Amino acid sequence: MMRPALARIDLQALQHNFNRVQALAPDSKVMAIIKANAYGHGLVPVAQALTGADAFGVACLEEAISLREAGFSQRIVLLEGLFGQDDLALIHGYQLDVVIHHISQVEMLEQGRQAGPLDVWLKIDTGMHRLGFAPDQVAVVAERLARLPQPVCLRYLSHFACADEQENPATQAQLDRFGEICADLKGERSLANSAAVLAWPASHGDWVRPGIMLYGSSPLPGSTARDLDLQAVMTLATRLIAVNPHNRGDAIGYGGDWTCPEDMQVGVAAIGYGDGYPRHAPSGMPVLVNGKRSALIGRVSMDMICIDLSTQPDAKVGDEVILWGTDLPVDEIAQQAGTISYELLCGVGSRVQFSYLS
Ligand SMILES: *Cc1c(COP(=O)(O)O)cnc(C)c1O
Repeated sequence: MMRPALARIDLQALQHNFNRVQALAPDSKVMAIIKANAYGHGLVPVAQALTGADAFGVACLEEAISLREAGFSQRIVLLEGLFGQDDLALIHGYQLDVVIHHISQVEMLEQGRQAGPLDVWLKIDTGMHRLGFAPDQVAVVAERLARLPQPVCLRYLSHFACADEQENPATQAQLDRFGEICADLKGERSLANSAAVLAWPASHGDWVRPGIMLYGSSPLPGSTARDLDLQAVMTLATRLIAVNPHNRGDAIGYGGDWTCPEDMQVGVAAIGYGDGYPRHAPSGMPVLVNGKRSALIGRVSMDMICIDLSTQPDAKVGDEVILWGTDLPVDEIAQQAGTISYELLCGVGSRVQFSYLS
């Protein structure tokens, strides 16, 4: 029998969330962001379910090539562009779009002398100060790209630093700066991540770039996924592999830093940080045992967690334990573990079995 740690991926929920994007940004094309193995959900099955996507955004050539080899003909955008000049042959061979964010990449293109047209998304730093050309460099870079021997189709993008904070004036400032820089430039524009799709309609432009909302997690701290009509795509589940009686005063797990306040049943479930469950999940973290809320107790081990079954006298070996999913939002787990849903979803390990429901 296989170890019971399992990620169930609900592709109808994914489609529902995609439809939400289209309803919120009806005049924009959608670049579905599926980097990091589709935020841990599985690159190819997720792309297959996103039949309405106009483009896919990925972080590396390997992901882009997997998509092309699986037969996708949509635009595929390398969000960090090329990492070296030898990427160019593959970019041309697989007909990939590249983000160009740094002058070193312009030089790679100039020295590459590749034949064939190129689709470039020029990244502009409008205030996040991570990647992109400063506003006063944009015209010069655009000219250098126009002088390349091959035809270059230019688009423009920028990324928000604080779109999840609805009161923060930084987003409007970035939006205004982007508008000014692009005013006289021809080419499509793209700014909006999930938070901006939801909270900043003026930013939608030609292309929106949702990631996390497709997977059913809320990017807005004040709103739950349910408030935003988003459905959880991943349910991470496992089973109880032991139910043991312990006495008042018994210390549970590594370090022995949780002690039983009374005689009680303690469950052990087959999931741990080696599967991507956060090691920093504190005692009291909710888990569902047979659909009922129970609490994690003691430290998370590599392969196991312990669960307080004092309110679940009937729980037995083999019963289902849910770590996050439809009835236990990943956002709630992330918050209590001191992280964000993105990290938990991306971190689900390869020894977890995946099953896809369509
Ligand atoms: C990851 C990423 C996104 C998607 O962000 P979400 O917050 O997941 O919606 C959009 N654009 C770029 C450039 C990204 O790297």
